[in-house]
Amino acid sequence: MYARERADVAEPIVSISEKLARERRARLAAERLLEQKKRELYAANTQLSRHARALSDQIVVQRQEAESLKGRTVQVLHDLERVTSQAELAERRLWEAIETIEDGFAVFDGEARLVSANQAYLALFGAGGVRLGDSYFRVLEVLSQGIADLAREDAQDWQHEMTTRLGRDVIEPKVVRLADGRHIRFHDRRGEVGDLVSMAQDITAAMEREAELEEARAKAEAASRAKSAFLANMSHEIRTPMNGVVGMAELLCETALTEEQRLFAETIRSSGEALLVIINDVLDYSKIEAEKMRLYPEPFDLERCLHEVMLLLQPLAREKGLRLVVDFDIFLPTRFIADPGRMRQILTNLIGNAVKFTPAGHVLARVVGLELAGGDYELHVTVEDTGIGIAPDQIEHIFGEFNQVEDQSNRKFEGTGLGLAITRQLVGLMGGAIWVESEVGHGSCFGFRLVLSPAEHTAAGTGPERPVLLKNALIVDEILINRVILQRQLETYGLAVSSCRNATEALAALPVQGPFDVILVDQDMPATDGPDLAAALRMVGDAAPILFLSSEPDSLADRRCDATSVLAKPILRSQLLRVLQDLSYPKSRLPAPAEPSAPEAAAGRPMRVLAAEDNRTNQLVFRKMVADCDMELQFAGNGREAVELWRSFRPDLVFMDISMPEMDGREAARAIRAAEASSGLSRVPIVALTAHAMDADRVSILEAGIDHYLTKPLKKAEIVAKIAAFCPGDARTAVPPAAGTVPA
Ligand code: ADP
Repeated sequence: MYARERADVAEPIVSISEKLARERRARLAAERLLEQKKRELYAANTQLSRHARALSDQIVVQRQEAESLKGRTVQVLHDLERVTSQAELAERRLWEAIETIEDGFAVFDGEARLVSANQAYLALFGAGGVRLGDSYFRVLEVLSQGIADLAREDAQDWQHEMTTRLGRDVIEPKVVRLADGRHIRFHDRRGEVGDLVSMAQDITAAMEREAELEEARAKAEAASRAKSAFLANMSHEIRTPMNGVVGMAELLCETALTEEQRLFAETIRSSGEALLVIINDVLDYSKIEAEKMRLYPEPFDLERCLHEVMLLLQPLAREKGLRLVVDFDIFLPTRFIADPGRMRQILTNLIGNAVKFTPAGHVLARVVGLELAGGDYELHVTVEDTGIGIAPDQIEHIFGEFNQVEDQSNRKFEGTGLGLAITRQLVGLMGGAIWVESEVGHGSCFGFRLVLSPAEHTAAGTGPERPVLLKNALIVDEILINRVILQRQLETYGLAVSSCRNATEALAALPVQGPFDVILVDQDMPATDGPDLAAALRMVGDAAPILFLSSEPDSLADRRCDATSVLAKPILRSQLLRVLQDLSYPKSRLPAPAEPSAPEAAAGRPMRVLAAEDNRTNQLVFRKMVADCDMELQFAGNGREAVELWRSFRPDLVFMDISMPEMDGREAARAIRAAEASSGLSRVPIVALTAHAMDADRVSILEAGIDHYLTKPLKKAEIVAKIAAFCPGDARTAVPPAAGTVPA
């Protein structure tokens, strides 16, 4: 109750002060809040202004960046503008250039649409024919519709072919003939992005030139054929009368003549033969030039071939007092495969020249070689002389045509100047090479290198089948080179060799180094010659077999001399071996060959020989040449007569001229061979007598069934040799022994 009272009393006072207090507190609180808000506001302001600053900084930076970017963009735009204008310039230039070329030029894009082309290209298709944007197929279509000359080809097929062509990896150029006669060659190439670049080249002028050249070539070939035919014909025409001249002169020389007449006859013969050599040279050269020269390789004996060439040149060498020497490598086989006729020609040319251009001294032919891995042999053949030599400035010319060293020193030598040109070509045809070394006044050395297959697979240097049993030999020869070569040969057969230079040395050596199983003596030594030395040896009681080495074996016939055997120089290895073998096995131990007794030899019928030859003079020459032969001879004047005579006369041997009227020798031979076959008769040997010297003739002659051939002018020895070789067993010996010594 009190509290209420008090409250009743006090209430207005309290409430005012309380209100005041409350208001003051509220005001203070509000002031604090305000203060608080102020601070918050300030902080917010501060942060705001910081952000604003950062932002404005950023704006500055970005503005700067934007500025620089703008600068750069402007630069790039400038550059782009410049490059674009340069590219445009380059393209304009390129197209201007392309426009100036006369050939058509076009580019097709990956879809084969024509994107650019020069006027020359568009002009091909006529006005409005092809436009930019057209496809390649449209181009082909326009071409095939009258612009191109398709001959008879179907337009569709042609277009197909042209399109297929583009699909190939390498697009071959294609020549299209246009209806207006022009020829356009299309070269097409695919670019990396799939574009097709096409070039159309007008090759009309080139085609015309080519056609002209082709025509000229055909004409030249025809002319060359005509020349060859003319040469063959000329060869025949010249050889036929030459046969009469040389043959008759040969026969004339065998008759009794005064010395003056003999000189005349000999001159006719040798001039005729010289003329034939020239004709042969010209023929050979023309053949090589016309690439008509063919080689006929067959097995042959190179050493023998060399030896035969030397023997052929021996008389000339002897006249000049030259020594001919052969040095054939003893470790080489002698049989090889090559064309023997051409090989002989090469050797004859080189050795012949050496003899011709050497006034004194020697000519040495040397063959050395080595076996190659495959069994073939590389041969080096050299021909060395001690002659006049060749000046350095002339050396390169001597292998050319018609070239002879022109100076005082060799005016006196005859020749066509073709020999070495032919020789070089022949060596080249055989796959070899030729060279020369020479010194004026000292001599020359011509050499050639060839790879040849050996003819038989016999090891080189194998021992003889009949061993040589002789132990020691004495060589007496003035010439060192002869002694050296001979010594080497003898040593390979197992002999101990002593050498002397002359008779005095030999007679002195005999008691010291002798006795010898064989003594080899040069026939032609200065002081005491071979026969005199032989006599002296016998005088001192030496009984050893003596072999004479002679460059003129016939001359020994006039002298009484005691030689066991005579070997012709240069000495063939096989010949020497045979003599040494014979000495190792004296005759008494061998069965004596059965010599027919005289009455037996004369028995039997005569051999029958038919010769077909239309030319009367040649018939006469032939008849005279075989006058010594014991036989029945009948002549036919042409091929038809030859066939008829063959039927009625039944010859053992037929000599057949090739060029004859009515029926030539080839036809006649064919007819005889056919008749033989149908009636079962044995083949009669037929020997062609031909004036032709061309290889083609040789082939056609052998193809006609002819077995052998002889080239005109006929040589008595060759004819007689054939008669001797084909004389049948039931007939009398046709050839007298003295005439039959020449090998067939
Ligand atoms: P040629 O028919 O005149 O002998 P070649 O062609 O055989 O014709 O030779 C050409 C020339 O080379 C000869 O005329 C000669 O001047 C020279 N000659 C060839 N071989 C010899 C040699 N062994 N010694 C000196 N000169 C030679």
